[in-house]
This record gives sequence, C-alpha cells and structure tokens, in this order.
Amino acid sequence: MAKDLIYLDNQATTPLAPEVFDAMVPWLRDNFGNPHSAHVMGRKAAAVVEVAREQVASLLPKGGSVLFTGSATEAINLGFGAVQAMKAQGRNKIIVLDSEHAAVRDTALSHEAHGFIVERHPVGSDGIVSLEQLSMSIDDKTALVAAMLVNNEIGVIQPVEAIAELAHAKGALMLCDVVQGYGRVDIPDNIDMAAISAHKIYGPKGIGALWIRDGIDPPPIIHGGGQEQGIRSGTLSPALCAGFGQAAVLGLECHDSDAAHIQTLADRALNYFADWTINGSTDQRYMGNLNIRRDGLDVARLMSDVRGVAFSAGSACASGSGRPSHVLGALGLEPTEIKSSIRLGFGRYNSLDDIERASQIINTAVEVQLA
Ligand code: PLP
Repeated sequence: MAKDLIYLDNQATTPLAPEVFDAMVPWLRDNFGNPHSAHVMGRKAAAVVEVAREQVASLLPKGGSVLFTGSATEAINLGFGAVQAMKAQGRNKIIVLDSEHAAVRDTALSHEAHGFIVERHPVGSDGIVSLEQLSMSIDDKTALVAAMLVNNEIGVIQPVEAIAELAHAKGALMLCDVVQGYGRVDIPDNIDMAAISAHKIYGPKGIGALWIRDGIDPPPIIHGGGQEQGIRSGTLSPALCAGFGQAAVLGLECHDSDAAHIQTLADRALNYFADWTINGSTDQRYMGNLNIRRDGLDVARLMSDVRGVAFSAGSACASGSGRPSHVLGALGLEPTEIKSSIRLGFGRYNSLDDIERASQIINTAVEVQLA
C-alpha cells in the first residue's frame, strides 16, 4: 500500500494481520503436502486444516460443522441448496431482506428458475426489518429466510435471533450472512446456516466457510473428490485454512480491544463529520461502518478529487459497477441522496491520526465542491 494512502475501506476487505501471515508461511514454503494424502506430509497438512476448523468454529454456534469454501459467496450459494429438500415438502418460497448483499439476493433470485417464489422483504428507513411485517410474510410455504447480521454498506445490525425464531415457528430454515459481524457482533445460537469470509477479518482472500447446523444437508454444487464431507469437493489449501484459523483466534483475543478501538475511532469521526447525515440506524449498528451523506455532494467527483484516502462511494455497489446502491434505495433515499453518500470503514490497524487526516482531506474537498 502506498505509504501516504489512508485505508478506510475495511468492509471491502481488511489488511492481512501479521500473525496471520506468519501462520500461513510454513504451509506455503515448507510443507506443501496435500491434506487429503495418506502419507506423513498429508497427515500434517490435514491436522492444520482440522485445527483451523476448530478455531473458526469457536466463534460460531455449537451443534454444527464448518465446511471450508473458496469465499462467503460460495458458502451462501451452497447453503441455499438446502431449499431443494424443503421444496419436496411443498415449500417454494424464499424470503430475503431487500438490503442483503448481492451474494444472498442474487443467489435467492437464481432459484426463481427452479420454481421458487422469492420475496425481497422491505426494511425501514433505518435499514432494520420490522419483525411484525416479516412475521406476516413468513408462512408454511416458506422454505428459507435469509437475513444478514451486519450490513456491509450501512453497518446496521438486524435482529437475527428474532428473525430465526419467526422462521422456525413456521418450519422454515434461517440462513445468516455473518460476513461483516463474525468476531465483532454476537452470532445468535438459533440460526441454521452462517456464511463467513476470512478476508473481512484480517485473514487471506480465497477462503470462506459455511457453518451448517447438524441435520441440514445441502447438496453439493461442486462435484469431485468428495472432500468436505462430500459436500464441497476440491483440494483445500492448508495455508489459507491456517490463516483463516489464526484470524479467528485473533478475532476472539482482540474482541474487546478491537471494539474499544473502533468506538474511539468512530467517536472521533462522528465529531469530524458532524455536518453529515448518517444513513441507517444510529444505535443498532456496528461502529466500524460509517455511511454518511452531505446534501448536494457529487460523490463520483469527490472520489476522483480525493486520492489519498481509500473509501467507498455509498452510491456504487461493492463490485464497483456504478449501479446505484440497492441498500440505500431500500432505506427510501432519493437518487440524489444516494449519490451524495460515502462509506468509511474503520479497522484494527487504523489510527486516530488516520481519521483526523482523512476527515481533513475529505471535508476540504467537499467544501471546495460545494462552494
Ligand atoms: N456478504 C457480505 C455482507 C459481504 O460484505 C461480502 C463481501 O463483500 C460477501 C458476502 C461476499 O464475501 P466473499 O468476498 O468472501 O465472497
């Protein structure tokens, strides 16, 4: 990273923790064994994978297992397969919140081609779902309800435990995208499936996981050698697994210090950006995500003016497609408000100095633009 670039895009991805890097190196450099081989190198590699599985599982509910995948997106696609068995029981409805990440929303929509009715359930202007409204949508035709723990664009926290209760009351499954909340926000015990991603928690890119409650058996979407309980074939990377495991260990160890640090950074940022409006709930949120807007601002211009800070335009989806954010749209924001929103994401390795300098740079560019 350029030395003078301030990185405030920790929802897109996080830097690799030095401890994670160290945990991965031996499995890249020294022991290249295939974890599925029966000989000594293979057994050593398999052992590190199993240690990592336990480490990753330690932040997830009991009574289930962790399957490693290539990403959270793959985990979500895999988990959604559980609806097929539900369809055989006459359940052909899938409910996802309107503010879900594309990995959930588009996976749900892909099931329309297989005879499912997909409801994109609205959220309120604060980004939070109304449990009362949701309870009216979930019926005995519902196979699965998907709701995320922490929203990647606006940071709001959904009442996932209550959503899972509503789903279960009607016999439906509950899948939770916990990508942005894993290690930061408590994960309720009553969900049925959870998708996570290493690169959002200071781990490596290229590995995610699906946690599945015992007794739920989504069919494979990748076929082959039968690795990962026959559900997800393909040779695992011991280095990526070791890195993911170490990132989870750090997530646990640093939980309190990270939370205090993020709160300090957020408090400072809220001071510097006091003239801005926060998008989404101000109290039911993860403080490492500040999505804010300024009337009249052209964020595309701001992003080209501000070269020294890596942050996201609230108006573009994560893939950088330039499409207006469906999440901000789901809050009922006007297109002009969406185009005047930015997302600042703070993480473990940001300093108060980063916040001070970034806010000066951004606010100066904004004043010039709005003058
Ligand atoms: N869900 C959320 C909330 C995310 O923020 C992301 C990443 O942007 C994903 C899913 C997809 O994760 P991955 O990059 O591991 O596929």
